[in-house]
Amino acid sequence: MTERKFFDIDDKLLALAEETEADIRPAFERIERIAFQNQQKVLAAFINNHIGENCFTSSTGYGYNDIGREKLERVFADAMECEDALLRYNFMCGTHALTVALFGILRPNDTMLCVTGMPYDTIQSVIGLSNPPASGSLAEFGIRFEKIDLIDDREVNLDEMRRQLRSDASIKMVYIQRSRGYSLRPSLTVEQIETIATAAHEVKPEVVVMVDNCYGEFVQLTEPCVHGADLMAGSLIKNAGGGIAPTGGYIAGRKDLVEMCSYRLSTPGTGREVGCTLGHSREMYMGLFSAPHVVGEALKTAVFGAGLFSRLGYEVTPLPDELRADIIQSLLLRTPEALITFCQGIQSGSPVDSMALPEPWDMPGYDNKIIMASGSFTLGSSIELSADAPLREPYAVWMQGGLNYAAGKTGILIAAQRMSEKGLLKNN
Ligand SMILES: *Cc1c(COP(=O)(O)O)cnc(C)c1O
Repeated sequence: MTERKFFDIDDKLLALAEETEADIRPAFERIERIAFQNQQKVLAAFINNHIGENCFTSSTGYGYNDIGREKLERVFADAMECEDALLRYNFMCGTHALTVALFGILRPNDTMLCVTGMPYDTIQSVIGLSNPPASGSLAEFGIRFEKIDLIDDREVNLDEMRRQLRSDASIKMVYIQRSRGYSLRPSLTVEQIETIATAAHEVKPEVVVMVDNCYGEFVQLTEPCVHGADLMAGSLIKNAGGGIAPTGGYIAGRKDLVEMCSYRLSTPGTGREVGCTLGHSREMYMGLFSAPHVVGEALKTAVFGAGLFSRLGYEVTPLPDELRADIIQSLLLRTPEALITFCQGIQSGSPVDSMALPEPWDMPGYDNKIIMASGSFTLGSSIELSADAPLREPYAVWMQGGLNYAAGKTGILIAAQRMSEKGLLKNN
């Protein structure tokens, strides 16, 4: 086959890409096996819940008795292997779903104990940690927050968690952030989450173990609620929406807790019974159906990025062959110029808005300037190939997504090429 060139990418870089792909074969096989399992799980959930054409009809107004909405939440609960779920486009983003869960469960004078260090930037505002404090935060409602830092930025400090659970009766929730967010710590596997949940429940059986599951769905064979977590939440413009859901989020887990959250999502009294679907059900179903496959493609894209940039002499985390618990890949690019050029390269290799030139900006909810590359069909979707980075040491970029591996690989090669053209690429 004669290979045609659609983009101006150096032969040297293309050769490096081929070597990289040979290296990462075992990682790809692992990803394909997991995707096959998860795809079967989701397909079985569709079949067992008798999803039919009638589930795609549209409702308006209160949306009472919307069969499509109700069954979608059953399918999702089955896919997550937990008791119950809320899955709606009415969640405006992942932060909103997490916020509804926090306000749904916590009451004045309760303490939320985060055992994975400082939570994700936008959650800090929700808790009341931003400066100046955001109006309407948990703190304003008298809900306290404590955190336990990770040991060596890796291990959850279980002894300290047990100590605090024993000494502070107000701790109602143990909060775990599975994904790394804008940090360089490893993401937590569901097995590690099980260790934490088991330890917490041993000391205090009634404590609610809640997981920020953003970027984690369908990366492993099972989800946190199978491993002792009581509740979890995430975004539909990340993994669980399969790149098709146009917006939304979910909360899933124990039935009684999901019900409490439903009263915060809508109103006390009405709960989950309201919420029209306005014709979006079909794409929500399609997104969930595609999610295991799309997550696999995103993981392959991440592994390729890790492989290519480590061959180029950069530190990357996770390593190409490391076990993954989320779809995020960090590349330590070391200088602001390299970081900005990489992000601009990813943008220029995107299907939508390739002509835009991203610049660092002060994004609401974040403390440092942030640069974001996202040439996506859905605004801000990070299951589509995207890269973002706060402009701070060590100038690491966090890339994620890729609806299909061939496009993801191309995007990364274009970004590397841009760096090379500016003399910013090591070892080349
Ligand atoms: C994406 C993300 C969130 C939620 O962010 P949104 O942009 O509001 O969807 C929360 N926690 C983590 C770890 C995330 O990656």
